Amino acid sequence: MLETNIQYLKGVGPKRALLFNKLGIASVRDLLYYPPRRYLDRSLIKNIHDIRVGENITVFGQVSDKGLVHTRRNFTIFNLLVSDDTGYLLCKWFNQPYLKDRFQIGDRIVVSGQVLSDHGLSMSNPEYELLDSEDAELIHTGRIVPLHPATSGLSAKQIRQVIKSAMEGYLDEIAEPLPPELIEAKSLMGIRQAIAQLHFPETPEILEQAHRRLAFEELLYLELILLLKKNSLQKQRVGARVKSSDWRNNFSSILPFRLTDAQIRVIGEITTDLGQARPMHRLLQGDVGSGKTIVALAAIIQAVRGGTQASLMAPTELLAEQHYNSLRPWLDRLGIVSALLTSKIKNKGRIAINQGLSDGRVNVCMGTQALIQESVVFSNLGLAIIDEQHRFGVSQRAALRFKGKYPHTLVMTATPIPRTLAMTVYGDLDLSTIDQMPQGRQSITTKWTAEANRSKVYDFIEQQIGQGRQAYVVYPVIEESDKTELKAAIKMHRTLSQDIFNERRVGLMHGQLSTEDRQAVMEDFRNHAIDILVSTTVIEVGIDVPNANIMFIEHAERFGLSQLHQLRGRVGRGSHKSYCILMAGPKLTPEARQRLDTMQSMSDGFKIAEKDLELRGPGEFWSTRQHGLPQLKIADLARDVALIAPAREEAKRILAGDPDLSQKQHLGIKTGLHAFHPEADKFTATG
Ligand code: ADP
Ligand code: MG
Repeated sequence: MLETNIQYLKGVGPKRALLFNKLGIASVRDLLYYPPRRYLDRSLIKNIHDIRVGENITVFGQVSDKGLVHTRRNFTIFNLLVSDDTGYLLCKWFNQPYLKDRFQIGDRIVVSGQVLSDHGLSMSNPEYELLDSEDAELIHTGRIVPLHPATSGLSAKQIRQVIKSAMEGYLDEIAEPLPPELIEAKSLMGIRQAIAQLHFPETPEILEQAHRRLAFEELLYLELILLLKKNSLQKQRVGARVKSSDWRNNFSSILPFRLTDAQIRVIGEITTDLGQARPMHRLLQGDVGSGKTIVALAAIIQAVRGGTQASLMAPTELLAEQHYNSLRPWLDRLGIVSALLTSKIKNKGRIAINQGLSDGRVNVCMGTQALIQESVVFSNLGLAIIDEQHRFGVSQRAALRFKGKYPHTLVMTATPIPRTLAMTVYGDLDLSTIDQMPQGRQSITTKWTAEANRSKVYDFIEQQIGQGRQAYVVYPVIEESDKTELKAAIKMHRTLSQDIFNERRVGLMHGQLSTEDRQAVMEDFRNHAIDILVSTTVIEVGIDVPNANIMFIEHAERFGLSQLHQLRGRVGRGSHKSYCILMAGPKLTPEARQRLDTMQSMSDGFKIAEKDLELRGPGEFWSTRQHGLPQLKIADLARDVALIAPAREEAKRILAGDPDLSQKQHLGIKTGLHAFHPEADKFTATG
């Protein structure tokens, strides 16, 4: 049985089983589905005569001589002379004296490793295997060798050995979960072959096929979960119906500019959703500066005129405050009562807001995560908007939903992601995209540079400030709690304010300041009481000061592409020509250099996101866990991006004919789905 406890496998036992448990492996099934982290190619086999220094090769030969040498301080070298018909190769192992009893003269042996030059050809600590019979199968040498993630006390070699024996006993028990038609239609490898090749591939090409098969299956499960979740959301009914006919006049009366076509389109999509009895679950995606806030305002007015309350949650206090400051004047003009709720608002202030929300006097509440605290009760929440959604976990999203009995939800993000990925990362949401910038936006000139040009950069900033502009100087403090990094930012501020720009007003902003102080600094910058704002990345999201036209980023190599793009989006918001200057540190990796080049040559957030995906490969941002999705074991959203759309199509097709996977031919998929994600029960148990 595949569920057999790992401890009963040959070579495991109770003690070693604990080490396997550490790796998340409890059963034989877990073991067989435990993918290697990478592979070593030891498949290049050569005659000793043909090998060259530096090559990574495998040699088949026999033991010609052996000897243990004791050097000073209990240090040993075990020498083994391996020969074939064409020559001799000296193999050395350091501090493994027990090896001397493992080999006999005349034994047939295979060694793999890098060829060194040491009084002739040699290898140091090569991988070896003894060939005891003619048809013995190699698992550590002479082939593409898997390296499974190991742990202290359990090496990759030991894991490999155990997997090999598990395969001998249990591979045939693995049942094919996918229906034969699907296997054929997609030209997929069968499950047993795929598992076998995953661990012990014959060639890189076959390994690729095995990976494709397993990744496709896993992505199929992921897409099934997302679609099932979406389908179940569609069965919900909103707690408070939004019925508004007069909101348009309200909205046009306060509109300060002409909407872009894209804004008009997405407002239309949202308006349609808000009229429905089933709750909206929509993602509004739009590059920095594309004008998402006004779209949110249109939705808020509809919700309030439709007789319900609305909330707007932002990831930082700074952003919540800014939303409040910019939306409030408009809302006031329409007689809509709004409030700001953050963790800094305490005691009486908080009691008053809570009261207003529960008795319905407050129509719109903006704030931070303070909004989802238990004490906050809305009398009639009809619309929950979440800004910069990528900063929130899925559970926080869900918590806000339940503040109303299924309010409409709109999540907004300025982190564009390629379309295929958006479908998955936000797979349970409908997608609206603002793919157009407001008219008259100046393009931003971006340049990356090095320390040698620092004074030129300062001169340039000085000149722009002389013309009445303002500048951001961003210092990378990745962890706001990191004292040393913060100190560096503060020191930077001192240098700039006292030595470099001593005629100018230089402000400082970081995550450790109190809300009042931060608000004051931000207010000063907005009112042009500050010329240069030195800041950590707390200004990253959403900040809007049109007169600022320079974004100067220190140690730009430490930031990811998406983050750099976000920061750059702080400028280019007014009518002035804007600049983004990236100061690179002295040691640049090739990837960092490519990131900086990309920033210099690209401005479209969606294209940058694609580049980010490409450069970063299997990276942090693109992991499913980052987005609150089930973790993937084999597939990788970045590497396997081409499989996502076909997997989704297939998932749709399956559910269209069999919404709860109850048909016989889908039994295997259903079982696999439950193994993939325990929550699957919630969606397939009914019906
Ligand atoms: P983001 O999508 O990054 O949240 P904002 O909503 O903050 O962008 O908008 C950025 C700036 O563009 C704001 O100053 C906003 O008033 C302005 N803006 C938005 N839409 C338009 C438009 N259609 N025409 C002109 N300016 C606009
Ligand atoms: Mg915004």
